[in-house]
Amino acid sequence: MSFVFQPMPVVSVPVVGQAEQFPVHRIYCVGRNYEEHAKEMGFTGREAPFFFLKPADSLVVVDAGQTGHMPYPSLTQNLHHEIELVVAIGKGGKNIRAADALQHIFGYAVGLDMTRRDLQNEMKKLGRPWCIGKAFDHSAPIGPITPVAQAGDVNHAEISLQVNGVDRQRSNVAKLIWNIAESIEHLSAGWELQPGDLIYTGTPEGVAAVVQGDRLVGEITGLGSLTLDIS
Ligand code: MN
Repeated sequence: MSFVFQPMPVVSVPVVGQAEQFPVHRIYCVGRNYEEHAKEMGFTGREAPFFFLKPADSLVVVDAGQTGHMPYPSLTQNLHHEIELVVAIGKGGKNIRAADALQHIFGYAVGLDMTRRDLQNEMKKLGRPWCIGKAFDHSAPIGPITPVAQAGDVNHAEISLQVNGVDRQRSNVAKLIWNIAESIEHLSAGWELQPGDLIYTGTPEGVAAVVQGDRLVGEITGLGSLTLDIS
């Protein structure tokens, strides 16, 4: 097959302990999935999970031991960090039951759902799509994927984010409103999941702004750390 121009390369993420890369298909994100974060955003109670997407090429891929670089994005005065556990799908499917979800998971990674909060809030107010607040270039930094067998008990892992060495977010994956398996059940009712899909599972409380020159270090027990400089 020939193309009218060179197709974009496949976006991929390194895998801990092996040379082969994980090729990315789609990036799904779960909204307001920790109670204390839902409250800080002005919501209470257990609502049904909802989803948004980011383009695969919005990833900023940061290999183990390296420091990633994110250019401060245009149009915003309020760029927020959201530290998140990322689930990497290895086997696709639709209408996956929570009880069967684990067999669809390839591994896990540390990710950041970077958000132009001022633009997202404006879109919320107007009842418009969140794309400009959430799905912009470089909005999805991610560390290497740890295969399930090496990841430990991710469902009870500590999750944290420091900015310039100071704690901003610290919680536990056990506090997810919709846990990993339940999120996969709900998501796969709406879309057929494919190998290569990534799911950003939501952020705990403590989201706040970063500025040029800040260094972010996110960590999830068992999955290592993700270091990102904002330039
Ligand atoms: Mn998020």
